[in-house]
Amino acid sequence: MVAIKETSEHLALDAPENSKDEAAELLNKARTILKRRLSFFVWQGFFEPLTPLSLVDKVLVIQAPTSFHRNWVIDHYMNELNASVAEVCGEDVRIDITFCNDLQKKLPTKKEKVKPAKIIPEKNAELENKNIKSENIAIPPSPVRIDATVLPLLSNTNLNTSYSFDAFVHGPSNQMGYAAATSVADYPGTQFSPLFLFGGVGLGKTHLLHAIGLRAKEKNPTLKVVYLSAEQWVNSYIQAIRERQFDSFRNRYRNVCDILLIDDIQFLAGKDASQDEFFHTFNCLHEAKKQIVVTSDKYPHEISGLEERLQTRLSWGLIADIKPPEIETRIAILHKKAEKLAIKFSDDVLHYLAANVTSSVRELEGALVRLAACSSLTKEAITLAQSKEILAPVLKKKTLVASWQKVCEVVATYYDLRTSDLIGQARQRQVVFARQVAMACCRSLLSMSLPEIGRVFGGRDHSTVLSSLRKIEEQKRNDVSFQSILLRIESKIGTSASSS
Ligand code: ADP
Ligand code: MG
Repeated sequence: MVAIKETSEHLALDAPENSKDEAAELLNKARTILKRRLSFFVWQGFFEPLTPLSLVDKVLVIQAPTSFHRNWVIDHYMNELNASVAEVCGEDVRIDITFCNDLQKKLPTKKEKVKPAKIIPEKNAELENKNIKSENIAIPPSPVRIDATVLPLLSNTNLNTSYSFDAFVHGPSNQMGYAAATSVADYPGTQFSPLFLFGGVGLGKTHLLHAIGLRAKEKNPTLKVVYLSAEQWVNSYIQAIRERQFDSFRNRYRNVCDILLIDDIQFLAGKDASQDEFFHTFNCLHEAKKQIVVTSDKYPHEISGLEERLQTRLSWGLIADIKPPEIETRIAILHKKAEKLAIKFSDDVLHYLAANVTSSVRELEGALVRLAACSSLTKEAITLAQSKEILAPVLKKKTLVASWQKVCEVVATYYDLRTSDLIGQARQRQVVFARQVAMACCRSLLSMSLPEIGRVFGGRDHSTVLSSLRKIEEQKRNDVSFQSILLRIESKIGTSASSS
C-alpha cells in the first residue's frame, strides 16, 4: 500500500545530491504523463508547482508549496500520481509529499545509501523485428505488473471505480456512445463486437470503457475483463518478448479474457509487431464470440499507420462517435462533478464555467476542481466574480498578449507606484517587494527566462532574479491572503492584456 505520511522520514535535506537528480527525472517524466491525462487547470494548479526532493530506497519525496496544496493532491490525485510514477519506473515507489515546513521542522538524520529506482526511457522502441535482442529493449511495466495496491481505487482488472455509468452524464452529443456502451456491458459478445468508440480528447471515451468493464463485472463477477491502453499493450508485449513469456502473454489476452477493453488504439499506428500481435488476438477473441471494445481519437480508416486489415476488422461491429457536449450537458456534468466533490456552487458560477470552458469535459472538470480548491482554502462559497478572477489567468493564458510593460503597469498601479520605480534601482521596501511581484508575474504569465527578467528590471543578474522569485514563493506559502492578491493581480494583467 502506498503510504502517505504526514512527514517524510527520508529527509530530502539529508539526501545525497544525485538522489535529487533521480527524483527530478522521475517526477518530470511522471508529470509529462499526467499532462496528457489531466486537465490543464489541474496540471498547472497542482502538479507543475511540485518540487522533487529525493529518491532514496524507492521513496520519492516531493515538496508541495503549501500544506493545503499537498493535502489536495493526496486527497484527489494520488491514484494518478502513483500510476504515472509506476509507469515511469516499473516498480513500486512510495511517494511522500511534504510541504516546506515539514522539512524545516525536522533535524537531519544520517545519510542514507542511494538506491534509485530504475527509470525507464520515455520512448520505448517498438519492435519492428521480433528477433531483436532482448537486452536492447527498455522494458516498461506492463499494466498487469502494476500492483493493485499501488492503485487503491482501481479494483481488480485495472478498472477505475469512479468511472461508472452512474457518474457519466449523457445527452445528445454522447447518446450513441453511451447507448452502445451500456448495451455491450449488459450483453457482452452478443451484439456489437467490436464496439469502436471514437471522439476528441477529454470527451469521455476512457470513462465509458471503464464503465463497460465495471457494469459487466457487476452483473457477472466471473467474467474476465481486461482493460489496458494501447500504449500498455505495446509495453506489455515488449516485456513478453524480453522475458520470453509469449505463452503467458497470449494466454492472458486470447484465452482467459471475456472482455478486452483497449484504450487509444491509435497508439498502435506504425508499430507493426504490436499491431500484428493485436490482429491475431482480435481474430481469436472474435471467433470465440468474446467482446472487444476499442477507443480512438479517429475513425478506423483515418488512423494512418494502422494496417488496413486491422482498420477493416475494427469496423466490423458498431462504430459510435462521441461529440463535444452541448451547454446543457456541460451544466449537468458540472452539477454531477460538484456533487462528487461535495462542494456547493451557485448556478451562475456553473453557467459561467459551462459557457467559457468548451474545449473538453476534462478541461471543464479541471476548471471546477480549481474553483473547488479555492473554495476549500477560503472555506467560503466561490462567487461569480471570484470565479472569473481565479480562472482568468488560465483561460486567457493561451491567447494572452501581455508584455512585461503591461505586467509592470498593473503591479505598479496595485502598489501605488510608477512603472519606472519597478525597473529602476530604488531600494525602498515597498518598491523592492512590488518589483519581486512583477518579476514573479513575468515568470508565471510570460514564461520569461531569468536573464530576460533581469535585463528588464534594471540589469539585475539571474541569481538576484532567482532569489526574488523564491521570496515570492515563500510569501505565497506563508500567507494565504497574499495568494489571493497575486491571483487578483494576475487576473488584472490577463484582462487588460486581452482588452488592449
Ligand atoms: P477521453 O478518454 O475521451 O480523452 P476521459 O474519459 O478521460 O476522456 O474523460 C475526461 C474526464 O471527463 C474524466 O474525468 C471523465 O470522468 C469526464 N467526463 C467526460 N465525459 C463525461 C460525461 N459525459 N459525464 C461525466 N463525466 C465525463
Ligand atoms: Mg482516454
